Amino acid sequence: MKKEAKIYIAGHHGMVGSAIVRRLQAEGYENLIFKTSKELDLTNQQAVAHFFKVEQPEYVFLAAAKVGGIMANNTFRADFLYENLMIASNVIHQSYLCGVKKLLFLASSCIYPKFAEQPIKETSLLTGSLEPTNEPYAIAKIIGVKLCENYNRQYGCDFIAAMPTNLYGPNDNYDLQNSHVLPALLRKFHEAKQAKLATVEVWGSGTPMREFMHVDDLADACCFLIQNYSGNDPVNVGTGTDLSILDLANRIKTITGYEGTIVWDSNKPDGTPRKLLDVSLLHDLGWQHKIPLENGIRSVYEAKFLRNR
Ligand code: GDP
Repeated sequence: MKKEAKIYIAGHHGMVGSAIVRRLQAEGYENLIFKTSKELDLTNQQAVAHFFKVEQPEYVFLAAAKVGGIMANNTFRADFLYENLMIASNVIHQSYLCGVKKLLFLASSCIYPKFAEQPIKETSLLTGSLEPTNEPYAIAKIIGVKLCENYNRQYGCDFIAAMPTNLYGPNDNYDLQNSHVLPALLRKFHEAKQAKLATVEVWGSGTPMREFMHVDDLADACCFLIQNYSGNDPVNVGTGTDLSILDLANRIKTITGYEGTIVWDSNKPDGTPRKLLDVSLLHDLGWQHKIPLENGIRSVYEAKFLRNR
């Protein structure tokens, strides 16, 4: 990818897209294109076709998606399926028609079967049933992965898919109903500390295991993959280690300095018991994550809740 290459980042306002933009800018790429969802509705086939005809990007990072935590996925099931399906289909098909040199599609670790063997290898895809709470999102993302694979097979495209683990970082969603666990807990413990509350409610049993990666590491991996990897198999992007939600809650409690008690709300779903990615393919390609979880959470906490007070 030459420094003057024209690169379209779909979803540049989101946590992942904005991290990719920061990373590309830091590396000296200047010919970046992005559109807000108001300017370009990626679920609209004609609008996407027109955009690609006019702009003719050479490279595409497809980070646009409707995303959310376990409750959002489980509540807005039709929206998660429809919007993600349309975004993937429109952008990948138009990238093919337009002769895009390379496209990187952001999938997700939740597209693997609920009871996949751990750590999860890329080859586990489609070997079992999905976790019901996020099945619609997962199906749409699986289609994105399969579009990349089959446009490569039929038309000789160079479209690749990255499977990131659970992410956190700048521009995350902190809505208590719809966000993922890490930002939700940062906010809950921070606000409980400020209000001197005796208890903080954390969902589920605390036993599910999750792996977390800072989005700046993911952006680094995406830039690495688009330059160093071609192939039909998606590539897992993670840290290779996980922890229980109980451990995560305790760590966040310490980082925020909250001194009250955690109460577990067993009426809320646990979701999949474990989803640790096998990152040996990525390591073999020559990439490793750099930001330790503790440092990453602290930096996000300070930037979001302690600065500008
Ligand atoms: P998942 O990885 O797709 O299951 O998505 P989440 O990040 O939303 O949830 C991960 C785990 O954290 C689940 O077992 C949740 O029940 C648990 N969890 C505990 N407290 C919270 C919370 O306040 N918000 C969210 N989203 N999840 C929580």
